[in-house]
Amino acid sequence: MKSITLAAISFSALSILAAPASAQRGPQPARWLGSEHCPQPAHTIYYNGNILTGVGLHAIDDHTPPQRVQAIGISGEWITAVGSNDTVLACAAPDAVKIDLHGAFAMPGFNDAHTHIAEAGLDRLSANLNGVTSLAEMQSRIAAYAKTLPDPNEWILGGGWDHTRWASKTLPTAHDLDSVTGPHPAFLFRVDGHIAIANTAALKAAGIDNNTPDPPGGHIDRDAQGNPTGIIRESPATSLVEKVIPPPSYQTRRHALELSIQDALAHGVTSIQDFSTWNDWLVLEGMEHENKLPLRIAEWIDFNLPLGDLEQRRASHDPNDPLLHLTFLKGFMDGSLGSRTAALNAPYSDDPNNSGIPRYDPDKLNAMSTERAAAGFQLGFHAIGDRANDMALDAFEAAEQAGIPAPAFLCQAKEEKYEHTLPPDAIVTRVNPCPQPPYAPADFRFRIEHAQVVSPNAFQRFHDLGVIASMQPSHLLDDMAWAEQRLGPANSDHARIKYAYAWRSFLNHGVPLAFGTDYPVESINPMRGLYAAITRMNEAGTQTFDPQNAAHEKLTVTEALYAYTQASAFAEWRETIKGQLAPGFLADLVVLDRDLTRSTPQQILHTRVLRTVVGGITRYTAEQSTPAAPPSPAAQQPTAQQPAPPAKPSPYAKPTNPDARTGTSHPPDNPD
Ligand SMILES: [Zn+2]
Repeated sequence: MKSITLAAISFSALSILAAPASAQRGPQPARWLGSEHCPQPAHTIYYNGNILTGVGLHAIDDHTPPQRVQAIGISGEWITAVGSNDTVLACAAPDAVKIDLHGAFAMPGFNDAHTHIAEAGLDRLSANLNGVTSLAEMQSRIAAYAKTLPDPNEWILGGGWDHTRWASKTLPTAHDLDSVTGPHPAFLFRVDGHIAIANTAALKAAGIDNNTPDPPGGHIDRDAQGNPTGIIRESPATSLVEKVIPPPSYQTRRHALELSIQDALAHGVTSIQDFSTWNDWLVLEGMEHENKLPLRIAEWIDFNLPLGDLEQRRASHDPNDPLLHLTFLKGFMDGSLGSRTAALNAPYSDDPNNSGIPRYDPDKLNAMSTERAAAGFQLGFHAIGDRANDMALDAFEAAEQAGIPAPAFLCQAKEEKYEHTLPPDAIVTRVNPCPQPPYAPADFRFRIEHAQVVSPNAFQRFHDLGVIASMQPSHLLDDMAWAEQRLGPANSDHARIKYAYAWRSFLNHGVPLAFGTDYPVESINPMRGLYAAITRMNEAGTQTFDPQNAAHEKLTVTEALYAYTQASAFAEWRETIKGQLAPGFLADLVVLDRDLTRSTPQQILHTRVLRTVVGGITRYTAEQSTPAAPPSPAAQQPTAQQPAPPAKPSPYAKPTNPDARTGTSHPPDNPD
């Protein structure tokens, strides 16, 4: 009989808040369990590698070398042995597959803590206006796309345009579109997802004319005569158009998801934490059911749904499923900095009468948060501006002060939770069983998504409330072009830009820092995020985000790797099975063409993924791909590994159509 020590099922999570308040929150160091005893025959072995296991990586770099091994052994979808070539090869089952890494660098697969995977896929099927440098170029791309749509009633959807890149810096109008769209209604989002342009046919279909009032929280731009110009701002207003757009079919959603999932795998991402629509979730469940889901996905649920619906949805899927699970409730506190809808405590430096648009009344928000936390839900709020972050922290504080016990469902970590995935002859030794009542103090793991600009006292509040900062370092690469205009220079009165993208300050306050991309707002390529985190410079290396501050907020590469693996696993309650290559962890790993810990920032930026392995199964190899060009800022081009785009593009773009089950929609969530 063989035995395996399954660190995976430990439930140390709940004991974290029992630590002194000054202690670093976040993932606990893995127990090094060793492989000398060859506890389990390995059916797949990777050897001759330069393998960074994640053991010995820390949220804050202590400059001790993290563990490196030559080989790992895998049984089923779990890692059963790590160590030297000799040690691990000695554990080979008679029929074991042995893969020589030829010295290549391998590490835990990236866990992207913030994506919109369905939107990313639908974007690939829609009119792509990313990078257009003028209105004329936008018009010609739309005209070309319109020719691919045989049905005159079919909508032209998509987006990605950014008028701030144009010489004119003028927003487009409905008439600008009408000349190239023919009979098709057209609705095309700006790159930030908070502003869209409708053509006349779309305005007509939505019933928007000069008598249509602005819905609360939204805005319809009008000309001097009061006629709509076509520009529509924020989801309460954009939804007037979106609700008349036919929703994507199951087949379209599935095709879209397959495209973007393959894109994630091609970039070394093995897990994502995602907000798509419930209909997309149902497609993902279908893919899992058919054993055709190659990526681990933690899906969020709309915070605004009635509590009964939330509980029903939560109960609909096994919370301990290591492949696909539902996690936190996503709410939106504000919009984006680029569109000046992020909620600030003081007016925009380049718009003195505007402080952005908070999306909640604080009392209502606090009451909803308290109720949902009491029902055992993890909460996560999109918050870009300092005011929005304060609102989110206030809501979390209200929920925690309500004296709620530890989220009960989270301790459904039944000891057998992962047992069904083990080989039948395994003997499981439990390292750290699920704690019995009375529980340790509550570990809510509330999250703030983006946390781009925060109040000076917010860092300590994040820590005291146990809030995770879920950030997207690659946003800095784009935002640095205008962030100082919006927020003012570092020497201005509020000096708030000093508290923007403040990764190091979060770590120094003991706040768990999880990294992601907000794909498709940014490429899902983790290398851009790593580069931004360690340099705070543009990709050419010619401009720094914050000359006076940069040195203080930069991370080391191992800190950035930790945020992108172990801390993001912590943020989805999976740090005992993901984020490290150690016995008892899932065999999710990535093989790269260079050692990220021994590369320059530019080398990191141009790193190629050689192989992506999820649950012991190779899901991507570079051999199947064409030689990669160095990634560009908009590195969205599919590799040859990915299915080719369809001959006939789907008309479906931003999946902001009403969710058939709830009547709610997923507002575009694009903080730029
Ligand atoms: Zn987002």
